Amino acid sequence: MPATLVLGTRNLKKRKEIEEILGDLGIVLHDLSMYPQAGEVVEDGDTFEANARKKASETAKAIGQWVLGEDSGLVVPALGGRPGVYSARYAGTQGDDAANNRKLVAELTALPEEKRDAYYVCTAALADATGRVHAIVDGRCGGRMILEPRGAGGFGYDPYFLVPEYHQTFGELSARVKHALSHRGRALLHLRPILRQILP
Ligand code: IMP
Repeated sequence: MPATLVLGTRNLKKRKEIEEILGDLGIVLHDLSMYPQAGEVVEDGDTFEANARKKASETAKAIGQWVLGEDSGLVVPALGGRPGVYSARYAGTQGDDAANNRKLVAELTALPEEKRDAYYVCTAALADATGRVHAIVDGRCGGRMILEPRGAGGFGYDPYFLVPEYHQTFGELSARVKHALSHRGRALLHLRPILRQILP
């Protein structure tokens, strides 16, 4: 029977991306919709790593399974690193992508174009059923923010995140290309050999 790994998320778009990236490993991936006992993890860490560790560890203990906790977000250095760890709730409501984008675009408008560089970050933590963290991996992807959305792919800030080498946003690039370049694709690439080794 293939090993089961629970993704510590209720974000279906994130789940889909992780499935597309790790799908070929032959591991059964679940998300938290199957585990009502998991409860909500309060993401009060100051760093992506602190939040990823917390999501993995607390969730694993609550459900007694191996859990992959993933924390990710967008960093704009000229905005003091915002939205950063607050990316999912930047405008106040968790997961309201349209409101988050409106708030960010308003802030970016005040910046000269050359100050609109940004990068995505993804940190993932793998915890066993007791909550012990066995691995932490990171990935980053650099780009530049634009003020008019382009493309309907991806999620979150993707229509505003231009990858200069491709002259396209993450909203325009195919999922396959996004995963080859993205913070999540890069972080999970580091995790692949660890998953192969650790999971029964
Ligand atoms: P988390 O669920 O607390 O890790 O927050 C992730 C948030 O960061 C998402 O809700 C998006 O706002 C943003 N984000 C992370 N990864 C991506 C991505 O690949 N594309 C677009 N937005 C992303």
